[in-house]
Amino acid sequence: MLDYGQPPFARWFPGGQANLCYNAVERHLAERSGQLALIHVSTETGSERVFNYAELHAEVQRMAAIMQAQGVGKGDRVQIYMPMIPEAVFAMLACAHIGAIHSVVFSGFASLSLAWCIDDARPRLIVSADASSRGGKVVEYKPLLDEAIRLAESKPEKVLLVDRALAPMPREAGWDLDYAAERAKHMDAEVPCVWLDSTDPSYILYTSGTTGKPKGVQRDTGGYAVALAASMRSIFRAQPGETMFTASDIGWVVGHSYIVYGPLINGMATVMYEDTPIRPDVGIWWSLVEKYRINAMFTAPTAIRVLKRKDPALLKKHDLSSLNRLLLAGEQLDEPTGSWIGEAIGKPIVDNYWQTESGWPILANQGGIEEMVSKPGSPGLPSCGYRMRLVNEAGGGECAPGEKGVLMIDGPLSPGCMQTVWGDDARFVSTYWTEVGGKLCYSTFNWGIRDADGYFFILGRTDDVINVASHRLGTREIEESISSHPQVAEVAVVGVAAKLKGQMAIGFSISRKPEFVETEAGCMQLEGEVMQTVDRQLGAVARPARVFFVSALPKTRSGKLLHRAMQAVAERRTPGDLTTMEEPAALAQIQQALKV
Ligand code: AMP
Repeated sequence: MLDYGQPPFARWFPGGQANLCYNAVERHLAERSGQLALIHVSTETGSERVFNYAELHAEVQRMAAIMQAQGVGKGDRVQIYMPMIPEAVFAMLACAHIGAIHSVVFSGFASLSLAWCIDDARPRLIVSADASSRGGKVVEYKPLLDEAIRLAESKPEKVLLVDRALAPMPREAGWDLDYAAERAKHMDAEVPCVWLDSTDPSYILYTSGTTGKPKGVQRDTGGYAVALAASMRSIFRAQPGETMFTASDIGWVVGHSYIVYGPLINGMATVMYEDTPIRPDVGIWWSLVEKYRINAMFTAPTAIRVLKRKDPALLKKHDLSSLNRLLLAGEQLDEPTGSWIGEAIGKPIVDNYWQTESGWPILANQGGIEEMVSKPGSPGLPSCGYRMRLVNEAGGGECAPGEKGVLMIDGPLSPGCMQTVWGDDARFVSTYWTEVGGKLCYSTFNWGIRDADGYFFILGRTDDVINVASHRLGTREIEESISSHPQVAEVAVVGVAAKLKGQMAIGFSISRKPEFVETEAGCMQLEGEVMQTVDRQLGAVARPARVFFVSALPKTRSGKLLHRAMQAVAERRTPGDLTTMEEPAALAQIQQALKV
């Protein structure tokens, strides 16, 4: 099953052949062609579209034919920059069907992030749309996409555009293709499935790390299919023929695994939802549970904290009898939030911990294998295939129960986990792997604690990654973007604990023109400009909550920014050991700025 001849590169099911789309769609046609496969609801546009397995298959065939007509074949990359619409799922599945590698970029990211991904993945084709709508606001994609392509060195051959008639979309003839027109040419398309080696890549998904450059997490084909199929039974306890609603976005790993591939591989109907959980009111998600008889639901704790501010009666007015459990992941599930929602809907809550790199839960309650007790605040025990270690940071030894350490995984990683960093094996090895006690171990970059029963508790990141409303962001990327403003000399961005979103990004910056930020009006103007820069380059998702202007930043004598000390001060904690600090007054300035 496993070739681990070249650690830490694990090759699962070498010699086997597979196709994710075949397993997600075609395999079910004989038994389930009339069963719902994809349910799309947009409360933004007031539309509901449903596709049974036969209809989903036909749409994937058409999309695959469009791609093939543009010369896309096995191993070619296709970038998908799409709102939450069915065509995004067709595009992902069509890539898998013809052996192309998809790279979905979260549509909350803007031109610079997108350009970076284009240059790294070098897609032959980009699939996009005119706009998305969120909270009643239309976000135009085409200008961001055009700017990204202008910035990128590597240009795609074609751009395929879905027109939702939400925003004007100027198109360049011969380069920008209209999806509706192309689809009409391939209505009866029959495109054979391209079998891949189990170890061939299925997709690349970019995620933030300690540097300013995102990493392309590369996933395989066979191992991923096996991991998802297994997790649907062991963790989600979901059966073929049932309905699953994962309220996430296809641009995140949760969307890849549990909006698209997991439920479909398991022969379920999957619900895809565009909008926030509170429009038109907080009852919306729960009304979908009633209407589509949803059995398993999955979202992030932030969404629940948003609901918690509203009237719980709205949750209770719907018939939730079909729902078996609610799964929550992406950030820490605090005990009050977990118990509030558990009581409000009267269903079991399953916390699970994982990351883009793993592709499926690392820690969870695997009730589908064996009933086990849930402990508030803990995502549970390691899932099958993960051998976890809690390593003492100072000595590298195993932590005792209750002792804080770095959460690591003994190699090889489980099936479904990242194979490597796209195009950069050396970065995969140097970023994640270290030798602990003579064994190669993968670092999750999370602090953790294990109790005497072996249950893990997650305590945040050891690196510069922050988690805002379960959106993973690299503080270095935000710092680089802020620094590109001509008036910014230096900047430090830290993640600060926040009630609703778990964390928020706060920036401390030194202006090149100190006299400009002497007045409150000057500070506000520059702060506004800096925010706009981040919006334009990275997207509003990465915009810091505040950027303060100071005249010095706390640094070590060797010139390294003391991020942890700034974070501690911003969270009103004591900043710890400051003996290496160059200029203590700098930290006092940060304190003062926050007070104001
Ligand atoms: P992402 O790669 O975007 O899925 O983010 C992964 C990170 O989110 C992890 O490294 C954790 O810091 C955090 N995370 C995910 N799930 C949980 C959870 N159940 N409890 C605590 N933190 C979590």
